[in-house]
Amino acid sequence: MRIETDVKLDFKDVLIRPKRSTLNTRSAVDVDRAFRFLHTGSEWKGFPLIAANMDVTGTMAMAHTLGKHGALTALHKHYPEPKLIEFFASSDGRHAFYSLGTTAGDVRKLASVAKAAPIRFICLDVANGYAEKFLETVKRVRDDYPNAVVMAGNVVTGDMTEALILAGADIVKIGIGPGSVCTTRRVTGVGYPQLSAIIECADAAHGLKGQVCADGGCTAPGDVAKAYGAGADFVMLGGMLAGHDECDGQIRFEERGGEKVAVGMTFYGMSSETAMRKHSGGVAHYRAAEGKTVETPYRGSVEGTMAEIMGGVRSMMTYIGAAHLKEVSKRTTFVRVTAQTNDVFGG
Ligand code: 5GP
Repeated sequence: MRIETDVKLDFKDVLIRPKRSTLNTRSAVDVDRAFRFLHTGSEWKGFPLIAANMDVTGTMAMAHTLGKHGALTALHKHYPEPKLIEFFASSDGRHAFYSLGTTAGDVRKLASVAKAAPIRFICLDVANGYAEKFLETVKRVRDDYPNAVVMAGNVVTGDMTEALILAGADIVKIGIGPGSVCTTRRVTGVGYPQLSAIIECADAAHGLKGQVCADGGCTAPGDVAKAYGAGADFVMLGGMLAGHDECDGQIRFEERGGEKVAVGMTFYGMSSETAMRKHSGGVAHYRAAEGKTVETPYRGSVEGTMAEIMGGVRSMMTYIGAAHLKEVSKRTTFVRVTAQTNDVFGG
């Protein structure tokens, strides 16, 4: 047994220190970023935010609305094949990741959809990116889809970030345990404070000219700003995008003043009992659920939330004098505001 005693930080442990700046208005800053991807050599420009590939948020409607803002959506993997083919053949398909796990069925379904429609982004997603089998799947997908941008995860350490990039990932997805409906830290004792994970993995990825996507734990626009400050190239959001018209979820109505008003919407983790019952007929006897089901307030169209997030990021950029999103991490100085990471179980 070993103990690491270096300080590891979460979003709530820091604030971004303001810096002298010549930028006067939020309109003087550009929140878009341009990337050239390591393995494919292809280029992309947009607002580097990705809706999580969860049942509730990884929807085609989400891809449509977020696409208008230059942002991306990782579709959940449970859409039927014909629907996926139709979607990826449409213009909205350009703003979306095709998501899959590592089962033979997942790989077969991807092959079948990719044969019929162009797939620009692939999200290879497992709860534990440390399994040897995962690296093999990344290699295989890289070989089979040389023109697709491959995002793979999740991991939280620099060594594994490098291994995934060398295996063929263009983007590595970072985060084990920080998700708003994730109970991995509580159930297994495993995890890593998210801000430190982003800083360390971004450093490793950038050394190889790869990118990272910070996945999980953002609860407000300021956390998204901190993730970019820490070096995240992309930020993935679940909970912050839940509760909207573009989501796939049950809306709860209440009678108010004689009118039926939408008040809440369900949101659940992809390893929760709700998800396992829906997709695999229940929780297998050898595993525990590592996600929970919550109700989020109903918030109408995701347009309003996107405006808040983009507004928050723009404003952060004027505070630190960054005209372009690319400059943010170079201009970020974090101030530590807590003595210890105490609430490690988050949401
Ligand atoms: P959020 O933005 O809600 O804080 O985090 C979203 C991320 O939580 C997802 O992209 C995914 O990585 C993670 N996640 C989603 N469902 C589950 C789950 O059931 N268990 C765990 N451990 N993580 C989950």
